[in-house]
Amino acid sequence: MSEFAKKISILYVEDEQDVQEGYARTLKRISKELFLASDGNEGIEIYKDKKPDLIITDINMPKKNGIKMAEEIKAIDENQAIIFTTAYTDSKHTLEALNLQVEGYIIKPVDKKKLKIKVEQIAKTIVIERKSSKIQKILQKILDYQSSITILTDFKSIEIASKSFYRLFGIEDKNTFFKIYPNLLDVFVKHDKYLHGDTEEKFLRNYENLTQENRIVSTASMYGDVKAFYIEIDKIDELYILTLTDITKIQEEKLEAQYKATHDKLTELYNKSKFEEYLHIRFKRAIRYKRELSLAIMDIDNFKNINDNYGHLEGDRVLKNIASILLKNVREVDVVARWGGEEFVLLMDETSANKAFVVCEKLRIAIEELKIENLPSITISIGLTSVKNEDNIESFFKRADDALYKAKQSGKNRVIINA
Ligand code: GH3
Ligand code: MG
Ligand code: MG
Repeated sequence: MSEFAKKISILYVEDEQDVQEGYARTLKRISKELFLASDGNEGIEIYKDKKPDLIITDINMPKKNGIKMAEEIKAIDENQAIIFTTAYTDSKHTLEALNLQVEGYIIKPVDKKKLKIKVEQIAKTIVIERKSSKIQKILQKILDYQSSITILTDFKSIEIASKSFYRLFGIEDKNTFFKIYPNLLDVFVKHDKYLHGDTEEKFLRNYENLTQENRIVSTASMYGDVKAFYIEIDKIDELYILTLTDITKIQEEKLEAQYKATHDKLTELYNKSKFEEYLHIRFKRAIRYKRELSLAIMDIDNFKNINDNYGHLEGDRVLKNIASILLKNVREVDVVARWGGEEFVLLMDETSANKAFVVCEKLRIAIEELKIENLPSITISIGLTSVKNEDNIESFFKRADDALYKAKQSGKNRVIINA
């Protein structure tokens, strides 16, 4: 009958000696521990000392009445469970008591059976809450021990998260967190390379569409720390468990290796092998969908002279300067690369030979006009062609190369189209 009451301690405050004795016997029998007080002041003293789970108090008492005492206790702990016993059936006191959000009141004279039922009810809530807050604490500890970051969330709020999650952003707890990031998804960097999404639905859809090894998110703290994580998402009821494993170092190494494999070290343009990859894809597409595609091959004129007269390092400086002019003067969709030595290639999607000619002339002139400190002016020759239906990659490339040869033969510093 009193299985839950047996697990709680009770403070009973009653000024009338005989009443107190009468109920104290019952309360002592059903609870784990009982403390007694005879007025509000004494009640507060014992409350502070013993922190009972439940307080049962009379209202009308000398020195400090039960309402005043309850107000002071609620100010210390608003969740403290309190029941009033009162002789007033319909009084101002009863209403005040309800305003205080107490667990209830029992009309005097108190029926012992009713008292036991009420105490058992409240005890049940207290015991269950105590257990769930204990589980919460244990869970927090477990999460904090993990090397990965775990967040239990419905995306609008965080149920629980490992401390390392908040530390990532230099934040104390979830209250400060939501002041800075109104939406949890805001912490994930919006970048093609990384999983992200403005809404929960989009984020989860993007997650599902990625293979496991590509489920990578990136976070940036307020201080500019950027990190990368593998993310795993599980669902329990309406809550999601997000597990983040730090792969910042691996990711950095991977990106660096990727960059090295696809870029020329000196000019930082794409290298030959990356260019060939683009060339194959774009050539196939142009043939299949009958789209325009132009290719220019460029070669610096008399470059050997620069090396011979000014040294190899100065030659390198020329290559870097020319690379940056090329990059500055082509569209983002165009692919410009260092083909090797002092030769560059430029692939222009959706561009006819005539339009490409205009681009190449612009480049030729920009390079002719380029002034590099302590060096004579530089010129380039350009061979240009566009895709034809009957082309294969070799014939396409050869036409541009032949045009370049003609440009060199006919006096250099010019653009020749081989249509
Ligand atoms: P042309 O007008 O006929 O193209 O004559 P050119 O002197 O430019 O052509 P050539 O093929 O005779 O010489 C190319 C030179 O480019 C030779 C080579 O040493 C130099 N070169 C190739 N790669 C680099 C590089 O990375 N750095 C430097 N400084 N020079 C390079
Ligand atoms: Mg050459
Ligand atoms: Mg040359």
